[in-house]
Amino acid sequence: MSRFAWSGFLVVSLLTLTVALNTGAWAHDTRALGDGRISAEPRVDHLYACRQTFDPNAPGAVGPYPWISAGRYDPAQKPQVGGRQSWPNAEIQVLREGDWRVIRANNLPTHPTGIFPIRPSDPAFQYDRNPNAIRTQRIELKLPWAPRVAAAPSCVPMGLIGFTLVGGALYNALDARGRDAAAYEMMDLCGGHPQQDGQYHYHDDQACLPTGVDANGHSELVGYALDGFGIYGALDEGGREILNRDLDACHGHVGPVLWDGRIQVIYHYHLNGEYPYSVGCFRGTPVRVRPDITLPRRQRGPDPLVAVAEELGVEVEALRRAIGPPPPNFGRAARELGIDLQRLREAFRRNRPPPQ
Ligand SMILES: [Zn+2]
Ligand SMILES: [Zn+2]
Repeated sequence: MSRFAWSGFLVVSLLTLTVALNTGAWAHDTRALGDGRISAEPRVDHLYACRQTFDPNAPGAVGPYPWISAGRYDPAQKPQVGGRQSWPNAEIQVLREGDWRVIRANNLPTHPTGIFPIRPSDPAFQYDRNPNAIRTQRIELKLPWAPRVAAAPSCVPMGLIGFTLVGGALYNALDARGRDAAAYEMMDLCGGHPQQDGQYHYHDDQACLPTGVDANGHSELVGYALDGFGIYGALDEGGREILNRDLDACHGHVGPVLWDGRIQVIYHYHLNGEYPYSVGCFRGTPVRVRPDITLPRRQRGPDPLVAVAEELGVEVEALRRAIGPPPPNFGRAARELGIDLQRLREAFRRNRPPPQ
């Protein structure tokens, strides 16, 4: 090879290397960490959260987190909860009843999940000892059939904020400590996990959600938000990936989408890879979810944990997670919550539920 050809080869190689570094998998697939982007009003790139204070010691994933660095995280490097379990009894129905769109489901997903509680042999266990199993929930959501934009947006609560067509619930972007849940919590192959009542849910855009497109190349419907507006996947018209700069403060926009069988220009939300990933605030008026609606039947009725948490001055959900599934783990709860063991036991004894 002549000297000229060699230099040409080197230039081409260096160009290729530069392009690879700029668009390589690592650089492309990392996401900006959403921590701290909780807002008390509608704001792009933020979550307008109803809850503004969080317990930094609430139970959750524990570090160090090698997939997080310099304000970014790499989903491909983050461990995944292992196993593959199918749910043949998954049930979901979406029906029109007068002016309402009614979703009835048992919250078991129509796709496989990982194995929960996370097994001690699972590499994810060292980061997150999620002790909860996936359990059937009684979901009955009555959403407006034709949602309307409200006078002002409203904040997004903790817990269920929407429901997907594949049977999993959608939660907001936060974990119990107010951090970016998708970055820290251990999720399964479909990006979901169960919370303390066993409710299986996602916090962001995930591969097991519907990924089809309509005739315009726009993502198909993935689920419904509590205000009745549709939630769609990550593609805008023409199949272009939608970014937060294309969306309003609530993570939605008005445009043509396939809605109830035909293309209609309507407000809708998008899931994407940018915090807060899904609904950032409600554009419409969210329906109230009855507190018992997502609890398993056997747990309905007064929850003794509420009284215990009140007496001890801790968050109910933190207490629930620390105490674990029956039999209650008083020792761990005392340690995690920083409460004297004797005091904890007495609070439980005083607030014991009446026999049924
Ligand atoms: Zn979660
Ligand atoms: Zn759209």
